Amino acid sequence: MTNRSLFNTSGASVRTCFSPLIITVTFLVLAAPAFAVEELIVIGHKSPDTDTVISAITYANLKNMMGVKEAFPAVSGDLDNETKFVLGYFKVPYPEKITDCQHRCGKVILVDHNDMAQTVDNLNMENVVEVVDHHRVGGFTNGKAIFFLIEPAGATGGIIANLYEQNSIPISREMAGLMVSAILSDTVLLKSPTSSPRDAAAVEKLAKIAGVDPVKFGAELIRVKTDIAFKSAMGILMGDFKEFNFSGTKSGVGQVEVADLNVLTLKRAAILEEMKKVKDSMNLDMVVMMLTNVMKESSDLLFVGNATAAKSFEKAFGGKIVNNSIYREKLLSRKLQVIPLLEAAFKK
Ligand code: MN
Ligand code: MN
Repeated sequence: MTNRSLFNTSGASVRTCFSPLIITVTFLVLAAPAFAVEELIVIGHKSPDTDTVISAITYANLKNMMGVKEAFPAVSGDLDNETKFVLGYFKVPYPEKITDCQHRCGKVILVDHNDMAQTVDNLNMENVVEVVDHHRVGGFTNGKAIFFLIEPAGATGGIIANLYEQNSIPISREMAGLMVSAILSDTVLLKSPTSSPRDAAAVEKLAKIAGVDPVKFGAELIRVKTDIAFKSAMGILMGDFKEFNFSGTKSGVGQVEVADLNVLTLKRAAILEEMKKVKDSMNLDMVVMMLTNVMKESSDLLFVGNATAAKSFEKAFGGKIVNNSIYREKLLSRKLQVIPLLEAAFKK
């Protein structure tokens, strides 16, 4: 908006009498945004997990170190216990919570996701200026060329550790501690099929800078992550819940990782009840919940949905739904072992 257009809309007599005042006010109003640098929000996916929160913090830190002072980390939901444990351990403050982009988010960097079904509410894709992630490309489109980095790494935290190195930015003890936690968490202590020798090498390097023993520290992480005794069925379901659209079938796929599936036996029926409620309240066609045993590396895949969705779900995992679920050995990763199978089975 220019001064001219502003004056054109005001009355002639007012313009004659108060023009010096109007000019001053107009100048202040128009000039103020020019002095303030627009904020740059670095944010991860909804139902934030450790990798998504840590990616936001460490990538914003990298940007700051490179002179981009307006970058700051944010989260789009409540922190889980594992993330709180890690931030507390390395004495790093919790990021700001932004759950709605209606009135802000002029410039946004997405970390650990690129699927708009999983991003903060009311975010305009055109406001995304960078993406750093390790998931499949989920229909992201943007009118301009942006920095868009996706690598099939075990964690976004590991990709960011590489970016520190590539830009010759030293990694502090705190940032190293956060990134090693992100990799250990996302790869379930490097056991997940998503992890590679590069992740193992990064863990070794970062753990050294952070001054932690990755085996001992990792065991502590898993203990915190899998301690769900105090959680409600709803808390368990929504703790790590992601939305997907499989060829028009609106879906939610959650996951909980435990050290022993027996701890979930008593809550199984309640989780199924909550899945039905969430399916209706979120207007979904299907809800899948992975009850994953990280010790046995197996998952019980709970299913709620209509008969058509059930058929495609059975096709995806090559079995019949028994007692509301299909059980699979050697299944840990939603990203690698569940989403691609559902995607293929629902393809029309
Ligand atoms: Mn994540
Ligand atoms: Mn991740």
